[in-house]
Amino acid sequence: MRVAFLGLGIMGQAMAQNLVKAGHEVTVWNRTPGKLVEGAAVAPTPAAAARGAEVVWLCVSDTNAVEEVIFGKEGVDASLSEGMIIADSSTIAPAATLKMAERLRSKGVAWVDAPMTGSKIGARDGTLVFIVGGDEGPIERLKPLFAAMGKKIFRMGETGKGQATKLAMNLQIAMIFEGFAEALTLAMKLGVDPQQLLSLIEATMVRSGVVDYKAPFILQRDFTPNFPLRLMHKDIRLALEAAKEARVKLPGLETVEEVYEMATEDGHKDLDYAATLTLLEKWAGVQVKGNAA
Ligand code: NAP
Repeated sequence: MRVAFLGLGIMGQAMAQNLVKAGHEVTVWNRTPGKLVEGAAVAPTPAAAARGAEVVWLCVSDTNAVEEVIFGKEGVDASLSEGMIIADSSTIAPAATLKMAERLRSKGVAWVDAPMTGSKIGARDGTLVFIVGGDEGPIERLKPLFAAMGKKIFRMGETGKGQATKLAMNLQIAMIFEGFAEALTLAMKLGVDPQQLLSLIEATMVRSGVVDYKAPFILQRDFTPNFPLRLMHKDIRLALEAAKEARVKLPGLETVEEVYEMATEDGHKDLDYAATLTLLEKWAGVQVKGNAA
């Protein structure tokens, strides 16, 4: 398929590369020039990238970035025509997704929200799980592209439901990790070897994909971003906003949001969100170290 891929960050660059590997005709654009994808053409603007494409795939930071790339000066909007599909893998507000999709519907352009989970390793290995909202027709047409970048698609309902579900997923990831980080910090302070704690976790119902993914990085004290803290903070805020609009109280997430606020003040926003651990360590006066560290 002819695909315009916009946003070559941690996730987008690897995703676009997997589309090229699968034989699709890909044109990329990134706000800051210089990020490349082997085998893809490079366009100077979002509008130029989208010209003649069947699908415009977005993977940018946040709601403002998506609005800018589509409706801003030199945005995709100028190049859209009937039958095209916008697939948005950025994690953004469900309400804004609905508004933008509505705006484009009159042009005959379908909007599929396709946020994903699997992080940097899933993007690199083409094993992402897509959490999708949209009409069945366009989703069916996107299947070869989903297959090139991921291992599973879950259609959660109509447009907007992918983003709504993604917020519910990241709410859990943030809170599961916070529980893990607090457990490590307490265990360390009480003289328990974190590596032994991890072996125990692995053998019990406490085990989780979040712990499996993050534990090796933590034991190596490697906080380079797989999922930057600033983006998890954005998702926590999006979940809290959506909850407020829906009159839902999320007291646990409100507390975790304060931890992210303080971690940001401590200068950790561009590290991985696992760096929230370092704040707990600072308060406790310990550092989590396994035998591997
Ligand atoms: P990232 O590495 O920070 O990349 C962000 C991308 O957005 C960059 O290409 C950046 O361009 C672009 N961008 C930011 N503001 C923009 C604007 N105003 N106009 C145009 N482009 C703009 O982020 P990422 O980790 O790839 O994440 C991308 C999206 O996927 C986010 O919504 C994130 O929440 C979601 N996500 C991330 C992960 C993960 O583990 N990393 C997992 C699932 C979902 P520049 O290069 O010019 O800065």
